[in-house]
Amino acid sequence: MLSRLLLRLALTLGMASLAEAAAQRPNILFIMTDDHAAHAIGAYGSKINQTPHMDRLAAQGLRLNRCYAVNSICTPSRATILTGQYSHRNGVPVFNNLDPAKVTVAHRLREAGYYTAMLGKWHLGSDPQGFDDWNILPGQGRYNDPVLYDRDGHRIYKGYATEVITDLAIGLLKNRPKDKPFFLMCHHKAPHREWTPNERYRREFATKTIPEPATLRDNYAGRADALREQKQSVFHDLTRNDLKLVPPPELKGAERQRWLGEKPTEVTIEVNGQKKILRGEELNRWKYQRYLQDYLGCVQSVDDSVGKLMDWLDANGLRENTLVIYTSDQGFFLGDHGLYDKRFMYEPSARMPFLARWPAQIKPGTVTDALAINCDFAATFLDLAGVAVPAEMQGRSLAPLFTGGTPANWRHEFYYRYYHDPGHHDTRAHYGIRTDTHKLIHYWKADQWELFDLTKDPDELNNLYGTPAAQPLIADLKARLSKLQQDLGDTGQFTRELPRDTVDARPRQMDRKHPDSQL
Ligand code: CA
Repeated sequence: MLSRLLLRLALTLGMASLAEAAAQRPNILFIMTDDHAAHAIGAYGSKINQTPHMDRLAAQGLRLNRCYAVNSICTPSRATILTGQYSHRNGVPVFNNLDPAKVTVAHRLREAGYYTAMLGKWHLGSDPQGFDDWNILPGQGRYNDPVLYDRDGHRIYKGYATEVITDLAIGLLKNRPKDKPFFLMCHHKAPHREWTPNERYRREFATKTIPEPATLRDNYAGRADALREQKQSVFHDLTRNDLKLVPPPELKGAERQRWLGEKPTEVTIEVNGQKKILRGEELNRWKYQRYLQDYLGCVQSVDDSVGKLMDWLDANGLRENTLVIYTSDQGFFLGDHGLYDKRFMYEPSARMPFLARWPAQIKPGTVTDALAINCDFAATFLDLAGVAVPAEMQGRSLAPLFTGGTPANWRHEFYYRYYHDPGHHDTRAHYGIRTDTHKLIHYWKADQWELFDLTKDPDELNNLYGTPAAQPLIADLKARLSKLQQDLGDTGQFTRELPRDTVDARPRQMDRKHPDSQL
Protein backbone atom coordinates (compact mmCIF):
# COMPACT_ATOMS: atom_id res chain seq x y z
CA MET A 1 0.00 0.00 0.00
CA LEU A 2 2.74 2.40 1.00
CA SER A 3 4.79 2.13 -2.16
CA ARG A 4 1.64 2.65 -4.25
CA LEU A 5 0.78 5.72 -2.22
CA LEU A 6 4.29 7.11 -2.39
CA LEU A 7 4.37 6.47 -6.12
CA ARG A 8 1.11 8.36 -6.53
CA LEU A 9 2.48 11.12 -4.33
CA ALA A 10 5.68 11.24 -6.41
CA LEU A 11 3.64 11.49 -9.62
CA THR A 12 1.34 14.12 -8.17
CA LEU A 13 4.18 16.29 -6.98
CA GLY A 14 6.25 15.68 -10.11
CA MET A 15 9.05 13.96 -8.19
CA ALA A 16 11.77 11.90 -9.70
CA SER A 17 11.98 9.14 -7.14
CA LEU A 18 10.25 7.28 -4.37
CA ALA A 19 12.97 8.47 -2.02
CA GLU A 20 12.05 12.04 -2.75
CA ALA A 21 8.39 11.20 -2.15
CA ALA A 22 9.26 9.48 1.12
CA ALA A 23 10.89 12.69 2.26
CA GLN A 24 7.58 14.41 1.54
CA ARG A 25 5.52 12.29 3.87
CA PRO A 26 2.39 14.14 4.93
CA ASN A 27 2.05 16.18 8.07
CA ILE A 28 -0.88 14.92 10.11
CA LEU A 29 -3.13 17.26 12.07
CA PHE A 30 -5.58 15.05 13.96
CA ILE A 31 -8.38 17.17 15.46
CA MET A 32 -10.60 15.20 17.81
CA THR A 33 -13.48 16.39 19.94
CA ASP A 34 -15.30 14.66 22.75
CA ASP A 35 -18.86 13.41 22.11
CA HIS A 36 -19.55 15.25 18.84
CA ALA A 37 -22.13 13.22 16.90
CA ALA A 38 -21.93 13.21 13.09
CA HIS A 39 -25.59 14.22 12.87
CA ALA A 40 -24.64 17.62 14.34
CA ILE A 41 -22.45 18.44 11.31
CA GLY A 42 -23.79 20.07 8.15
CA ALA A 43 -21.75 17.78 5.88
CA TYR A 44 -23.53 14.79 7.44
CA GLY A 45 -26.97 16.29 6.80
CA SER A 46 -27.57 17.90 10.19
CA LYS A 47 -31.12 19.17 10.67
CA ILE A 48 -30.23 21.04 13.85
CA ASN A 49 -27.16 23.23 13.19
CA GLN A 50 -24.72 24.69 10.66
CA THR A 51 -21.00 23.95 10.67
CA PRO A 52 -19.50 25.92 7.75
CA HIS A 53 -15.86 25.12 8.52
CA MET A 54 -16.34 21.37 8.96
CA ASP A 55 -18.41 21.43 5.77
CA ARG A 56 -15.49 23.15 4.03
CA LEU A 57 -13.17 20.42 5.27
CA ALA A 58 -15.55 17.79 3.84
CA ALA A 59 -16.01 19.66 0.54
CA GLN A 60 -12.25 19.98 0.05
CA GLY A 61 -11.58 16.36 0.99
CA LEU A 62 -13.14 13.14 2.21
CA ARG A 63 -16.19 12.15 4.25
CA LEU A 64 -16.46 8.68 5.76
CA ASN A 65 -20.16 7.95 6.16
CA ARG A 66 -19.66 4.82 8.23
CA CYS A 67 -16.89 5.21 10.76
CA TYR A 68 -17.41 3.65 14.22
CA ALA A 69 -15.96 3.43 17.70
CA VAL A 70 -15.63 -0.24 18.74
CA ASN A 71 -16.39 0.63 22.41
CA SER A 72 -18.31 3.88 22.51
CA ILE A 73 -16.88 5.80 25.46
CA CYS A 74 -14.11 8.35 25.92
CA THR A 75 -11.16 6.58 27.53
CA PRO A 76 -11.47 3.25 25.67
CA SER A 77 -11.86 4.98 22.29
CA ARG A 78 -8.76 7.09 22.94
CA ALA A 79 -6.76 3.99 23.92
CA THR A 80 -7.94 2.23 20.75
CA ILE A 81 -6.96 5.17 18.55
CA LEU A 82 -3.44 5.28 20.04
CA THR A 83 -2.81 1.52 20.04
CA GLY A 84 -4.81 0.34 17.02
CA GLN A 85 -6.22 -2.37 19.29
CA TYR A 86 -9.57 -3.37 20.72
CA SER A 87 -10.14 -2.81 24.44
CA HIS A 88 -9.56 -6.45 25.37
CA ARG A 89 -6.06 -6.20 23.80
CA ASN A 90 -4.95 -2.73 24.90
CA GLY A 91 -6.21 -3.29 28.46
CA VAL A 92 -8.47 -0.23 28.59
CA PRO A 93 -12.11 -1.44 28.54
CA VAL A 94 -13.37 1.20 31.02
CA PHE A 95 -11.96 4.33 32.71
CA ASN A 96 -8.67 2.71 33.71
CA ASN A 97 -5.18 4.01 32.97
CA LEU A 98 -3.42 3.22 29.71
CA ASP A 99 -0.26 1.28 30.65
CA PRO A 100 2.56 3.82 30.11
CA ALA A 101 4.79 0.96 28.85
CA LYS A 102 2.40 0.35 25.95
CA VAL A 103 3.91 1.22 22.54
CA THR A 104 1.55 3.56 20.68
CA VAL A 105 1.34 5.05 17.22
CA ALA A 106 3.08 8.15 18.63
CA HIS A 107 6.22 6.12 19.54
CA ARG A 108 6.31 4.58 16.09
CA LEU A 109 5.85 7.87 14.24
CA ARG A 110 8.55 9.51 16.33
CA GLU A 111 10.91 6.63 15.56
CA ALA A 112 10.13 7.13 11.88
CA GLY A 113 11.26 10.75 12.06
CA TYR A 114 8.03 12.60 12.83
CA TYR A 115 7.74 15.42 15.33
CA THR A 116 4.93 14.21 17.62
CA ALA A 117 2.77 16.35 19.91
CA MET A 118 -0.38 15.95 21.97
CA LEU A 119 -2.61 18.83 23.14
CA GLY A 120 -5.82 19.05 25.13
CA LYS A 121 -8.08 16.27 26.38
CA TRP A 122 -6.13 13.07 27.04
CA HIS A 123 -8.16 11.21 29.70
CA LEU A 124 -5.98 8.09 29.84
CA GLY A 125 -4.74 8.50 33.41
CA SER A 126 -1.03 7.96 32.83
CA ASP A 127 1.10 10.70 31.25
CA PRO A 128 1.38 10.67 27.43
CA GLN A 129 4.27 8.61 26.05
CA GLY A 130 5.91 8.77 22.62
CA PHE A 131 5.29 12.49 22.19
CA ASP A 132 8.06 15.08 21.80
CA ASP A 133 5.73 17.62 23.39
CA TRP A 134 2.48 17.35 25.27
CA ASN A 135 0.25 19.67 27.25
CA ILE A 136 -3.00 18.17 28.47
CA LEU A 137 -6.15 18.74 30.50
CA PRO A 138 -6.24 16.79 33.76
CA GLY A 139 -9.13 14.28 33.54
CA GLN A 140 -12.18 15.85 31.90
CA GLY A 141 -10.73 19.35 32.19
CA ARG A 142 -12.94 22.39 32.44
CA TYR A 143 -14.47 24.78 29.93
CA ASN A 144 -13.46 28.10 31.42
CA ASP A 145 -9.92 29.06 32.41
CA PRO A 146 -8.75 25.46 31.93
CA VAL A 147 -5.77 23.96 33.74
CA LEU A 148 -3.32 22.14 31.48
CA TYR A 149 -0.20 20.30 32.55
CA ASP A 150 2.99 19.18 30.86
CA ARG A 151 6.29 17.65 32.01
CA ASP A 152 7.10 20.80 33.93
CA GLY A 153 3.86 21.20 35.89
CA HIS A 154 0.48 22.76 35.50
CA ARG A 155 -0.92 26.25 34.94
CA ILE A 156 -4.21 27.99 34.34
CA TYR A 157 -4.90 29.32 30.84
CA LYS A 158 -7.34 32.22 30.92
CA GLY A 159 -10.16 31.89 28.40
CA TYR A 160 -12.50 29.31 26.90
CA ALA A 161 -11.03 25.81 26.54
CA THR A 162 -11.77 25.34 22.82
CA GLU A 163 -10.12 28.66 21.97
CA VAL A 164 -7.22 28.10 24.38
CA ILE A 165 -6.44 24.69 22.84
CA THR A 166 -6.70 26.10 19.28
CA ASP A 167 -4.23 28.89 20.08
CA LEU A 168 -1.87 26.46 21.80
CA ALA A 169 -2.00 24.23 18.68
CA ILE A 170 -1.05 27.13 16.43
CA GLY A 171 1.74 28.17 18.79
CA LEU A 172 3.06 24.63 18.80
CA LEU A 173 2.98 24.40 15.00
CA LYS A 174 4.81 27.72 14.71
CA ASN A 175 7.58 26.49 16.98
CA ARG A 176 7.81 22.92 15.65
CA PRO A 177 11.11 21.63 14.20
CA LYS A 178 10.79 22.49 10.50
CA ASP A 179 13.03 19.67 9.28
CA LYS A 180 10.50 16.96 10.16
CA PRO A 181 6.91 16.16 9.21
CA PHE A 182 4.58 16.68 12.17
CA PHE A 183 1.94 14.56 13.87
CA LEU A 184 -0.22 16.74 16.11
CA MET A 185 -3.15 15.39 18.09
CA CYS A 186 -5.33 18.40 18.96
CA HIS A 187 -8.05 17.15 21.29
CA HIS A 188 -10.86 19.38 22.51
CA LYS A 189 -12.89 18.93 25.67
CA ALA A 190 -16.00 20.21 23.87
CA PRO A 191 -18.78 19.34 23.41
CA HIS A 192 -18.64 17.01 26.45
CA ARG A 193 -21.17 17.22 29.28
CA GLU A 194 -21.92 19.63 31.05
CA TRP A 195 -22.00 21.46 27.71
CA THR A 196 -20.85 24.96 28.63
CA PRO A 197 -20.69 27.19 25.53
CA ASN A 198 -18.71 30.40 25.42
CA GLU A 199 -20.71 33.53 26.23
CA ARG A 200 -21.24 34.52 22.58
CA TYR A 201 -22.75 31.18 21.58
CA ARG A 202 -24.61 30.76 24.87
CA ARG A 203 -26.55 33.93 24.07
CA GLU A 204 -26.95 33.08 20.39
CA PHE A 205 -28.27 29.55 20.94
CA ALA A 206 -30.48 30.44 23.93
CA THR A 207 -32.95 32.06 21.52
CA LYS A 208 -32.98 29.18 19.00
CA THR A 209 -35.62 26.47 18.78
CA ILE A 210 -33.96 23.18 17.86
CA PRO A 211 -36.05 20.64 15.89
CA GLU A 212 -36.77 17.46 17.89
CA PRO A 213 -35.55 14.11 16.52
CA ALA A 214 -38.23 11.64 15.34
CA THR A 215 -37.30 9.13 18.07
CA LEU A 216 -37.30 11.55 21.05
CA ARG A 217 -40.38 9.80 22.49
CA ASP A 218 -39.32 6.25 21.61
CA ASN A 219 -41.25 3.81 23.85
CA TYR A 220 -38.65 1.00 23.38
CA ALA A 221 -41.36 -1.52 22.41
CA GLY A 222 -39.94 -4.83 21.21
CA ARG A 223 -36.39 -4.11 22.28
CA ALA A 224 -34.12 -5.34 25.09
CA ASP A 225 -34.67 -4.34 28.74
CA ALA A 226 -31.40 -2.38 28.55
CA LEU A 227 -33.22 0.55 26.95
CA ARG A 228 -35.78 0.69 29.76
CA GLU A 229 -33.09 0.31 32.44
CA GLN A 230 -30.66 3.02 31.26
CA LYS A 231 -30.33 6.31 33.14
CA GLN A 232 -29.46 8.70 30.32
CA SER A 233 -32.90 9.98 29.46
CA VAL A 234 -33.28 13.60 28.37
CA PHE A 235 -36.66 13.79 30.12
CA HIS A 236 -35.71 12.00 33.35
CA ASP A 237 -31.96 12.13 33.99
CA LEU A 238 -30.66 15.62 33.15
CA THR A 239 -29.60 17.32 36.36
CA ARG A 240 -30.09 20.94 37.39
CA ASN A 241 -26.39 21.40 36.67
CA ASP A 242 -26.85 20.04 33.11
CA LEU A 243 -29.80 22.40 32.65
CA LYS A 244 -27.76 25.37 34.02
CA LEU A 245 -30.32 26.16 36.71
CA VAL A 246 -29.08 28.64 39.31
CA PRO A 247 -29.10 27.48 42.96
CA PRO A 248 -30.84 29.61 45.59
CA PRO A 249 -28.18 31.89 47.13
CA GLU A 250 -28.71 30.48 50.65
CA LEU A 251 -27.44 27.03 49.59
CA LYS A 252 -23.72 26.56 50.22
CA GLY A 253 -21.11 23.82 49.86
CA ALA A 254 -22.36 20.24 49.84
CA GLU A 255 -26.00 21.35 49.97
CA ARG A 256 -25.50 23.46 46.84
CA GLN A 257 -23.78 20.54 45.07
CA ARG A 258 -26.62 18.19 46.02
CA TRP A 259 -29.21 20.63 44.64
CA LEU A 260 -27.30 20.93 41.36
CA GLY A 261 -26.99 17.13 41.05
CA GLU A 262 -30.72 16.46 41.45
CA LYS A 263 -32.94 15.64 38.47
CA PRO A 264 -35.83 18.14 38.58
CA THR A 265 -39.45 17.10 37.88
CA GLU A 266 -40.57 20.72 38.08
CA VAL A 267 -38.74 23.86 36.99
CA THR A 268 -39.62 27.52 37.49
CA ILE A 269 -38.54 29.84 34.68
CA GLU A 270 -39.13 33.51 33.96
CA VAL A 271 -41.05 34.51 30.84
CA ASN A 272 -41.36 38.26 30.18
CA GLY A 273 -40.70 39.01 33.84
CA GLN A 274 -43.39 36.51 34.98
CA LYS A 275 -42.59 33.30 36.87
CA LYS A 276 -43.79 30.14 35.12
CA ILE A 277 -43.74 26.57 36.47
CA LEU A 278 -42.95 23.86 33.92
CA ARG A 279 -44.11 20.27 34.44
CA GLY A 280 -44.84 17.17 32.38
CA GLU A 281 -44.62 17.43 28.61
CA GLU A 282 -43.94 21.18 28.74
CA LEU A 283 -40.92 20.51 30.96
CA ASN A 284 -39.78 17.66 28.68
CA ARG A 285 -39.77 19.94 25.65
CA TRP A 286 -37.90 22.62 27.60
CA LYS A 287 -35.26 20.14 28.82
CA TYR A 288 -34.56 18.99 25.26
CA GLN A 289 -34.14 22.61 24.14
CA ARG A 290 -31.84 23.52 27.04
CA TYR A 291 -29.67 20.45 26.39
CA LEU A 292 -29.35 20.98 22.63
CA GLN A 293 -28.92 24.77 22.85
CA ASP A 294 -25.85 24.33 25.05
CA TYR A 295 -24.49 21.29 23.21
CA LEU A 296 -24.73 23.00 19.82
CA GLY A 297 -23.27 26.22 21.24
CA CYS A 298 -20.19 24.20 22.23
CA VAL A 299 -20.03 22.62 18.76
CA GLN A 300 -20.03 26.09 17.17
CA SER A 301 -16.74 27.00 18.88
CA VAL A 302 -15.23 23.73 17.69
CA ASP A 303 -16.32 24.58 14.14
CA ASP A 304 -14.59 27.95 14.46
CA SER A 305 -11.48 26.15 15.68
CA VAL A 306 -11.42 23.85 12.65
CA GLY A 307 -11.70 26.91 10.40
CA LYS A 308 -8.92 28.74 12.22
CA LEU A 309 -6.54 25.76 12.04
CA MET A 310 -7.21 25.17 8.33
CA ASP A 311 -6.74 28.88 7.59
CA TRP A 312 -3.44 28.86 9.46
CA LEU A 313 -2.17 25.85 7.51
CA ASP A 314 -3.24 27.47 4.22
CA ALA A 315 -1.57 30.77 5.08
CA ASN A 316 1.68 29.03 6.04
CA GLY A 317 2.26 26.91 2.94
CA LEU A 318 1.15 23.70 4.67
CA ARG A 319 -2.11 23.12 2.83
CA GLU A 320 -1.00 20.77 0.06
CA ASN A 321 0.74 18.07 2.04
CA THR A 322 -1.00 18.13 5.42
CA LEU A 323 -3.64 15.53 6.18
CA VAL A 324 -6.20 17.33 8.38
CA ILE A 325 -8.62 14.97 10.08
CA TYR A 326 -11.70 15.96 12.05
CA THR A 327 -13.27 13.30 14.23
CA SER A 328 -14.73 12.68 17.69
CA ASP A 329 -14.00 9.88 20.16
CA GLN A 330 -17.53 8.55 19.55
CA GLY A 331 -20.97 9.81 18.63
CA PHE A 332 -23.70 10.98 21.01
CA PHE A 333 -27.45 10.73 21.45
CA LEU A 334 -28.97 14.12 20.65
CA GLY A 335 -32.37 13.15 22.03
CA ASP A 336 -32.38 10.13 19.70
CA HIS A 337 -34.31 7.33 21.45
CA GLY A 338 -34.99 9.92 24.16
CA LEU A 339 -31.35 9.82 25.27
CA TYR A 340 -28.23 11.87 25.83
CA ASP A 341 -24.77 10.27 26.29
CA LYS A 342 -23.39 7.31 24.29
CA ARG A 343 -22.20 3.72 25.23
CA PHE A 344 -24.86 1.83 23.27
CA MET A 345 -24.04 0.21 19.94
CA TYR A 346 -26.88 2.13 18.28
CA GLU A 347 -25.91 4.35 15.36
CA PRO A 348 -26.09 7.84 16.95
CA SER A 349 -23.69 6.71 19.69
CA ALA A 350 -21.19 4.38 17.98
CA ARG A 351 -20.87 6.34 14.73
CA MET A 352 -17.99 8.84 14.58
CA PRO A 353 -17.65 11.79 12.24
CA PHE A 354 -14.56 11.46 10.06
CA LEU A 355 -13.63 14.23 7.65
CA ALA A 356 -10.19 14.49 6.05
CA ARG A 357 -8.45 16.95 3.74
CA TRP A 358 -5.16 16.25 1.96
CA PRO A 359 -5.06 18.11 -1.34
CA ALA A 360 -1.98 16.19 -2.55
CA GLN A 361 -3.85 12.88 -2.40
CA ILE A 362 -7.60 13.31 -1.80
CA LYS A 363 -9.91 14.82 -4.42
CA PRO A 364 -12.49 17.37 -3.21
CA GLY A 365 -15.90 15.92 -2.40
CA THR A 366 -14.74 12.30 -1.95
CA VAL A 367 -17.29 10.14 -0.11
CA THR A 368 -17.40 6.51 0.93
CA ASP A 369 -19.84 4.16 2.68
CA ALA A 370 -17.09 1.59 3.40
CA LEU A 371 -17.01 0.45 7.06
CA ALA A 372 -14.19 2.09 9.03
CA ILE A 373 -13.41 1.74 12.77
CA ASN A 374 -11.31 3.71 15.24
CA CYS A 375 -8.90 0.72 15.33
CA ASP A 376 -7.90 1.76 11.79
CA PHE A 377 -6.54 5.21 12.61
CA ALA A 378 -3.12 4.13 13.94
CA ALA A 379 -2.55 1.81 10.96
CA THR A 380 -3.49 4.66 8.62
CA PHE A 381 -0.97 7.08 10.14
CA LEU A 382 1.81 4.47 10.00
CA ASP A 383 0.99 3.58 6.40
CA LEU A 384 1.18 7.23 5.35
CA ALA A 385 4.47 7.63 7.23
CA GLY A 386 5.98 4.65 5.42
CA VAL A 387 6.06 2.48 8.54
CA ALA A 388 5.00 -1.16 8.31
CA VAL A 389 1.83 -1.76 10.35
CA PRO A 390 2.79 -4.12 13.20
CA ALA A 391 0.88 -7.40 13.55
CA GLU A 392 -0.40 -6.47 17.02
CA MET A 393 -2.53 -3.66 15.55
CA GLN A 394 -6.04 -4.85 14.80
CA GLY A 395 -7.10 -2.22 12.26
CA ARG A 396 -6.09 -1.56 8.68
CA SER A 397 -4.99 1.52 6.81
CA LEU A 398 -7.85 3.68 5.56
CA ALA A 399 -5.68 4.99 2.71
CA PRO A 400 -7.46 2.77 0.11
CA LEU A 401 -10.67 4.69 0.94
CA PHE A 402 -9.07 8.03 0.05
CA THR A 403 -10.23 7.63 -3.57
CA GLY A 404 -13.87 7.04 -2.49
CA GLY A 405 -16.13 4.02 -2.98
CA THR A 406 -15.43 0.62 -1.41
CA PRO A 407 -12.30 -1.32 -2.49
CA ALA A 408 -12.92 -4.93 -3.59
CA ASN A 409 -11.23 -6.54 -0.59
CA TRP A 410 -12.63 -4.20 2.07
CA ARG A 411 -14.36 -5.39 5.28
CA HIS A 412 -18.13 -5.88 5.36
CA GLU A 413 -18.56 -6.20 9.12
CA PHE A 414 -17.00 -5.17 12.40
CA TYR A 415 -17.10 -6.20 16.06
CA TYR A 416 -18.25 -3.99 18.95
CA ARG A 417 -18.08 -4.45 22.73
CA TYR A 418 -19.14 -2.22 25.63
CA TYR A 419 -17.99 -3.18 29.14
CA HIS A 420 -18.75 -0.49 31.72
CA ASP A 421 -21.47 -2.38 33.69
CA PRO A 422 -21.94 -1.72 36.53
CA GLY A 423 -21.08 1.81 35.46
CA HIS A 424 -22.38 5.23 34.54
CA HIS A 425 -25.99 5.63 33.45
CA ASP A 426 -26.77 1.96 34.16
CA THR A 427 -25.90 1.01 30.60
CA ARG A 428 -25.82 -2.78 30.26
CA ALA A 429 -22.74 -4.54 28.90
CA HIS A 430 -23.19 -5.80 25.36
CA TYR A 431 -21.38 -6.89 22.26
CA GLY A 432 -22.41 -7.29 18.67
CA ILE A 433 -21.71 -7.24 14.96
CA ARG A 434 -22.54 -4.53 12.43
CA THR A 435 -22.46 -5.44 8.76
CA ASP A 436 -23.10 -3.20 5.72
CA THR A 437 -26.82 -3.84 6.18
CA HIS A 438 -27.59 -5.32 9.64
CA LYS A 439 -26.77 -5.10 13.32
CA LEU A 440 -27.01 -7.92 15.87
CA ILE A 441 -26.58 -6.99 19.56
CA HIS A 442 -26.28 -9.31 22.57
CA TYR A 443 -26.95 -7.98 26.08
CA TRP A 444 -25.25 -11.00 27.50
CA LYS A 445 -26.03 -10.62 31.21
CA ALA A 446 -29.79 -10.83 30.55
CA ASP A 447 -29.20 -12.97 27.43
CA GLN A 448 -31.33 -10.67 25.28
CA TRP A 449 -30.72 -10.03 21.60
CA GLU A 450 -31.63 -7.35 19.09
CA LEU A 451 -31.48 -7.51 15.31
CA PHE A 452 -32.00 -4.48 13.06
CA ASP A 453 -32.23 -4.20 9.29
CA LEU A 454 -30.37 -0.91 8.81
CA THR A 455 -31.48 -0.46 5.21
CA LYS A 456 -35.21 -0.61 6.05
CA ASP A 457 -35.00 0.63 9.65
CA PRO A 458 -32.10 3.10 9.96
CA ASP A 459 -33.48 4.38 13.30
CA GLU A 460 -33.22 0.88 14.84
CA LEU A 461 -36.78 0.74 16.18
CA ASN A 462 -37.91 -2.64 14.88
CA ASN A 463 -36.23 -5.58 16.61
CA LEU A 464 -36.42 -8.54 14.22
CA TYR A 465 -34.79 -11.01 16.59
CA GLY A 466 -37.95 -13.00 17.41
CA THR A 467 -39.33 -13.14 13.87
CA PRO A 468 -39.26 -16.58 12.16
CA ALA A 469 -38.22 -15.12 8.78
CA ALA A 470 -35.02 -13.72 10.34
CA GLN A 471 -33.77 -17.05 11.75
CA PRO A 472 -31.41 -17.99 8.84
CA LEU A 473 -29.92 -14.47 8.92
CA ILE A 474 -29.50 -14.65 12.72
CA ALA A 475 -27.68 -17.99 12.44
CA ASP A 476 -25.34 -16.49 9.83
CA LEU A 477 -24.68 -13.34 11.88
CA LYS A 478 -24.03 -15.33 15.07
CA ALA A 479 -21.46 -17.44 13.21
CA ARG A 480 -19.78 -14.30 11.87
CA LEU A 481 -19.86 -12.68 15.32
CA SER A 482 -18.25 -15.71 16.89
CA LYS A 483 -15.56 -15.77 14.20
CA LEU A 484 -14.81 -12.09 14.77
CA GLN A 485 -14.41 -12.71 18.51
CA GLN A 486 -12.05 -15.59 17.75
CA ASP A 487 -10.02 -13.72 15.11
CA LEU A 488 -9.67 -10.66 17.36
CA GLY A 489 -8.77 -12.72 20.41
CA ASP A 490 -11.73 -11.66 22.55
CA THR A 491 -12.00 -14.60 24.90
CA GLY A 492 -14.02 -12.65 27.46
CA GLN A 493 -10.96 -11.15 29.22
CA PHE A 494 -13.10 -8.61 31.09
CA THR A 495 -16.31 -10.60 31.41
CA ARG A 496 -16.05 -11.37 35.13
CA GLU A 497 -14.00 -8.52 36.48
CA LEU A 498 -13.35 -5.02 35.17
CA PRO A 499 -10.30 -2.87 35.99
CA ARG A 500 -10.98 -0.09 38.52
CA ASP A 501 -11.91 3.36 37.15
CA THR A 502 -8.74 5.37 37.80
CA VAL A 503 -8.37 8.04 35.12
CA ASP A 504 -9.73 10.85 37.26
CA ALA A 505 -7.44 10.25 40.27
CA ARG A 506 -4.65 12.49 38.97
CA PRO A 507 -6.77 15.63 38.52
CA ARG A 508 -8.15 15.20 42.03
CA GLN A 509 -4.59 15.14 43.36
CA MET A 510 -3.75 18.20 41.29
CA ASP A 511 -6.93 19.87 42.46
CA ARG A 512 -5.95 19.59 46.12
CA LYS A 513 -2.77 21.51 45.40
CA HIS A 514 -4.54 24.05 43.27
CA PRO A 515 -6.49 26.78 45.07
CA ASP A 516 -8.38 27.96 41.98
CA SER A 517 -9.41 24.58 40.59
CA GLN A 518 -12.83 22.98 40.85
CA LEU A 519 -12.22 20.00 38.58
CA1 CA B 1 -16.31 10.97 24.58
